[in-house]
Formats: sequence, C-alpha cells, structure tokens
Amino acid sequence: MAAIDGIGKMYIGGEWVGSLSGKTREITNPATGECIAVVTEGGLEDVRHAIETARHTFDETGWRDTSSRERARLLFALADKIEQHVDELARLETLNNGKPLGEAESDVSSAASCFRYYAGLITKPHGQTYEVPYPIQAMVVREPVGVCGQIVPWNFPLMMAAWKLAPCLGAGNVTVFKPSELTPLTAIRLFELIEEVGFPRGVANLVLGEGRTVGAELAASHLVDKVAFTGGTETGRSVMRAAAGNIKKVSLELGGKSPNIVFADADPSIVAEYVMYGIYIGSGQVCSAGSRLLIQDEIYETFMQELVDRTKQIRVGSGLELGTEMGPLVSQAHMEKVLSYIEIGRQEGATIAAGGRRMTEGEYARGFFVEPTILTDTTPDMRVVQEEIFGPVLVVQRFRDEEEAIRLANGTVFGLAGAVFTNDAARSMRVARKVRSGIMWVNTYHPTYNEAPWGGFKQSGLGRELGTFGLDEYTEVKQVNINMELKPLGFYKGKGE
Ligand code: NAD
Repeated sequence: MAAIDGIGKMYIGGEWVGSLSGKTREITNPATGECIAVVTEGGLEDVRHAIETARHTFDETGWRDTSSRERARLLFALADKIEQHVDELARLETLNNGKPLGEAESDVSSAASCFRYYAGLITKPHGQTYEVPYPIQAMVVREPVGVCGQIVPWNFPLMMAAWKLAPCLGAGNVTVFKPSELTPLTAIRLFELIEEVGFPRGVANLVLGEGRTVGAELAASHLVDKVAFTGGTETGRSVMRAAAGNIKKVSLELGGKSPNIVFADADPSIVAEYVMYGIYIGSGQVCSAGSRLLIQDEIYETFMQELVDRTKQIRVGSGLELGTEMGPLVSQAHMEKVLSYIEIGRQEGATIAAGGRRMTEGEYARGFFVEPTILTDTTPDMRVVQEEIFGPVLVVQRFRDEEEAIRLANGTVFGLAGAVFTNDAARSMRVARKVRSGIMWVNTYHPTYNEAPWGGFKQSGLGRELGTFGLDEYTEVKQVNINMELKPLGFYKGKGE
C-alpha cells in the first residue's frame, strides 16, 4: 500500500526535487512493518544547495521586509489549509508514526492553532523606546535572525514542524527544515500546503535525509544564522558544538526524565489514570512524559494496586483501529532500545510489576509493540531511573516526605517537566517552584498550549518555544539611537596649529 503516490521529494527554492545522488528511503508503518512510501534521501550536496538558496532568499529578495500583515495573511491561510486537511494529515501521521488516530487529530489541530497564534502575534507591537537624555531618541527594534536550520524528531512530526515554522516564518526568517528521516510524510504534505498558500519561493525549504549528514550540515554551515533543534540530548550536544563554528544562535528542546509526584492525600482511583496518561500517551515517546512516578510511602500499596491493574487493561493496537489506547513504537531499532532498557532494569534489580515484553501474537506479530511496563523496587542510581527510555516504561520511586520528593525529583541531569498531585494548595506551589524544570503541572499531566512557553532547565534544553518567548528566539534585538538635533559636535578642539 502506498500512502503517498510517487517518490516523496524535497522542496528547495520553490521546486520539488529529488536528491542529486538519486538515493531513496523506504518509510515504514510501525504497526505492520510494511513499507508505506518511498522518499528521496537527501545528502550533503542537497542540503548545501538548500542552504545557499535560503541565504540568497534572505539576503537578496524582499522577504525580510514584507509587512507583518502580509506574513500573518500567509500563516492564517496555512492554518486554514491544515484544518481543511485534518483527516488526511492525521491518518498520514498515524500511518507513519503509529500513534492512535485521536492523538494524531489533536496534533494536527494544535499545529493549525500554532500557525494562527503566531499570525496574530506578529502584528502586535514588539519594539520599545527609552527616555534617554535629549536630543537622543533611543529605541529597540526586532529583526529576523536570517537563515534558520530547523531539525525535528519523529514523535510529533507535524506539531513540531508547526512549533518551528510558525514563529520562524512569522518573524521574517527563511528556513531550511529537516524532519526525522523516519517520519517525513506529514512534513512533505505540509510543504505542499505551504506552496499552495503562496509563500514566496525559497522562503520555506524542506530537506530530507539523515541527521548525521543533512542535520549536521545545518548545524555547522557558516551560511546558517540559527539552528533550532528538537531531539535527544546527546544529539543536541553535537548540534551545539557544530554551531560554535560561526557562533550561530542555538535553541534546543531535548530529552527528559520527568517526575510525577503523588502525595498521600491523592485519590488513587482518580490519580492513577493521570499517571498512566502521563507516561503511556504516545507510547511514552514524549519528551515530557511522566516517566518517573514518585509515590509517598503511605499510599504505595493501594496506589500501585490500582495503577498495575489499570495498566494491564490498556488497549494496545494499530493507531487506525477504533478504541486503540496505545500504539506501537516508531521503529524496530527504537523498540529494541526500549526492550534493552527493560532488560537493564531487570539486571539492575528492579521488579517488573506490569508488562515488560514485546507483543508478538496475532495482530502484533509484524509491528513494533511493547507492553505498557512498570518497574518498581528501583534505586536512584539505576540507569533506568537516570536515563531517558522514551518508551512505555514507568519507573517508580518511593518517598517519605516533601523534602525527599523534591530531592528525588531533581536527581537527574534533565529538567523538562514534572507534575505534583496533592490537595494541599500551598504544598503544590512549593513543590512546583522547587522542582527545577521548565514546565510543572499541578493535579494534571501534559496540557500544553501554544500561548505559553515550552522548554527545559538543565540538560533538557536551551531557549523556549511557543508563546511570546518562542517568537523572541527568532528575532534579533537592535538598538537604534536617533539624534533629533544635528549640531556641531564640538568634541575635537584640535591642536590649534
Ligand atoms: P534524535 O536526536 O536522534 O534526532 C532528532 C533529529 O535530529 C532528527 O531529525 C535527526 O535526523 C536529527 N539528527 C540526528 N543526528 C544529528 C546530528 N548529528 N546533527 C544534526 N541533526 C541530527 O532524536 P529522536 O530519536 O528523533 O527523538 C527523540 C528525542 O527527542 C528524545 O530524546 C526526546 O526527548 C526528544 N524530544 C524533545 C522534545 C522537547 O520539546 N524537549 C520534543 C520531542 C522530542
């Protein structure tokens, strides 16, 4: 079955092009292991061509000087187009990434609303003026950064594209955008819509291919002014290193090992489901997944009973099946990585309280399905507690009191997100403030809005996406001082000769 007809191409300088090498890549449906599409495989020469095209577009065409009203019009039109194609885009996302259709539909709607949010924001006031000694008028203006290399992972292919493209293009930049080589299908479709709404040629460029060639060049090229990367922390480190060559601006959205802290006053019959939602949505392949449950001693037994029972009931299956609550992992290689972490946990002495295996019977036989898994009896130094597994594996840690909860919560190199469940309002606020992460939820998990900033403390990232903070990342701040009375300066009196 071909999900898209023909060979998926790159979009460079307003043209749909294959790679110069002629290489292609098969794209897989993770629920069945089948090839669903073939796309061109870009290489170094292709990304260099895209970067040069982008550079020319930014430097030589009038794009950077278009009015914010015109850029808003394009972004609004793109949001409308996405909404007109919700069903098609969601189905494509599910086929390629594996997530349940309902999750994919919500991603597509969120992507449309992201374009709409920035369309509105960019027409609002951005500058500042300062009262400095007369006759100088001091002001600050915002300008686009220039050519942006944008690299995204496979877990939210379309939504991550929206988070990157909307503020970038809205602010008048030019992009060379690279989706994950595993999940390029919705990005290709998105760029078709970008073409349809009439973005000028060369403003939005799409390259396909591997991270270590195409992605690495976006990070290293001296013709690129900024690199915006979402992906693993190790890859982020190499992007940052490569970016140092021309002191590029860098923004990084990286991994996490987020704590979900449940105090003894929480009602297990309600909160257990939030904990499940925190970790199993997206099959745990979510940067902000609540992958560590921190549970207070008093309710450990009752809470775990409820959690384990309900976790075993999760309906795992193809994302296209009605009623599926958790899909497969994105690829065979990733599934093997997740299974190897479960094995590491076992060897480290953790107990597998639920799941723990690949699912291979019947409908699962050819897909990359792993059971929703819970690891208990852990210690803080275990690799499964410290490292991001990025799969449906919940690691449980116990605590006595608030102080210990906070210490455990902060006890990894990550700091992306976290949650606290308690009926004590003051305690919830204390904990939310003391956990060192970019996002904290109280009595809920995962709600994320285009209006509010997203990003990590510590090794979970650098900079923020979304909201006004996300737009700031795509603008340079310039100070302009105007002398309102040009008179002789009188500074150089001379030697009098
Ligand atoms: P990854 O780091 O392997 O790849 C991400 C992207 O970077 C892909 O497009 C890949 O091709 C590219 N890439 C790979 N090597 C590169 C290199 N040397 N130079 C430049 N680009 C390179 O990550 P992944 O496995 O695709 O995604 C999972 C990771 O993404 C997880 O760690 C997850 O936590 C993280 N993530 C973070 C956020 C966030 O907002 N903080 C959101 C989603 C995913």
